Amino acid sequence: MELKGKKVLVVGLGKSGLAAALFLRHRGAQVTVSDIRSAEALAKDIPALLDAGIMVEAGGHGLLTFRRQDLIVVSPGVPLDTPELVQAKSFGRSVIGELELAARFLKGKILAVTGSNGKTTTTSLLGEILEQAGLPTLVGGNIGVPVVALIEESTDQTWSVLEVSSFQLESTEQFHPTIAVILNITPDHLDRHGSFENYALAKERIFAAQNDQDFVVLNADNVRAAESASRSKANVYWFSFEHPVEQGAWVEDGFVLYRSGKDATPETVMPLKGIPLKGEHNVENVLAAVCAARLAGAQAETIRKAIENFKAVEHRLEYVATINGVEIYNDSKATNVDATAKAIASFASGVHLIMGGKDKNSDYTQLTQLLRGHVKAVYTIGSAAAKIESQLRGVVSIHSCETLAKAVNAAAMAARPGEVVLLAPACSSFDQFESYEHRGRVFKELVNEWRGWKVWQNV
Ligand code: ADP
Repeated sequence: MELKGKKVLVVGLGKSGLAAALFLRHRGAQVTVSDIRSAEALAKDIPALLDAGIMVEAGGHGLLTFRRQDLIVVSPGVPLDTPELVQAKSFGRSVIGELELAARFLKGKILAVTGSNGKTTTTSLLGEILEQAGLPTLVGGNIGVPVVALIEESTDQTWSVLEVSSFQLESTEQFHPTIAVILNITPDHLDRHGSFENYALAKERIFAAQNDQDFVVLNADNVRAAESASRSKANVYWFSFEHPVEQGAWVEDGFVLYRSGKDATPETVMPLKGIPLKGEHNVENVLAAVCAARLAGAQAETIRKAIENFKAVEHRLEYVATINGVEIYNDSKATNVDATAKAIASFASGVHLIMGGKDKNSDYTQLTQLLRGHVKAVYTIGSAAAKIESQLRGVVSIHSCETLAKAVNAAAMAARPGEVVLLAPACSSFDQFESYEHRGRVFKELVNEWRGWKVWQNV
């Protein structure tokens, strides 16, 4: 794709929009950036853009701006049904995402990971494994490093391990991973995708450009995955926590096993107790990583060592501290009901669960059984609190706390030695925090304060 002299509009000035604009300019395009946020809100990025010779439209989108372009690159945060984009498309303008743009220039092979939950954990783990296997590895995507930022460093030998979200996949055309992983598909982002099926179809775009030389790794324990398999042209490999699979990775008698085909002898990769992460969901992530890494050419022994040395990514069921016998975990990244369910299931009983935040049109009644079995009390925060309370009334003891500080306080007073305090909100953070990272950091600060409490020392 020739960019020199082309008029390109970048819509949305997030991290990936900024990287895309600078990349396009560097390749000789005439670049404009358009964002609905005000010039003040964008102030920190504008000088770099202007210096590079990029035009900036802030505080809204001009229809003419959209019509004048040869190509429009849209950021993952911008919905594709934004009226200006719909109009531009109807005028024949090509609209692609940053992931698609990058994929057209990235050299080497792509190993892409999507799913409702576990993407960051599995992508980081795969990055470590491939690196330790001596393969030239780059890691990026939704994980925080825009994919365009990997282009210059990539060579024909590179494996780019990419975390890709449904928002990024929605606007792909030629994006073509050699290995595609779909970890799971459970309800999330229904506020943007409209229906569960639309959301699932967006995830399946990860294998849309694949052919019979490629591989797709699917979760055999996920009902929706079988349907995906029937739509894929690639070689299907499976992973399962529950039973052996024809080709792929599974758990048997406390060990992780892998086989490359139905007639191949299973290899023992490692014992489950060697996995340093908590919860069955993390075993699923490990299984997916084992399968994808074997397909990329890593040996079982290297994989085992890399997994044994892997540390939980911050805010993902992250161990924070033990105070007077109470274990405290930060799972601020549990921003949907399924992730919270997995977090709860990781502890046998005695959980004091802090949940709430901004609702995403979620159904919290799905937690009913797990709450009854594992949770002693729920402490609600944020704007979703009333909905959570009304859906879970009578299931478990609920304390309305409004803020995270009050919730930590109340949970700290109530928890007894041997019990667990768990932040796993099942909601996004945007009502009270800048991001889930911010919420997780505040939680950890509050836990630190709790260490010093007199009241606690007297328990
Ligand atoms: P993502 O990048 O898909 O959001 P993360 O690895 O950041 O995934 O984890 C997000 C949340 O989901 C965390 O709360 C984590 O504990 C939980 N989680 C991780 N893996 C899984 C899984 N396989 N199934 C369900 N929940 C998971």
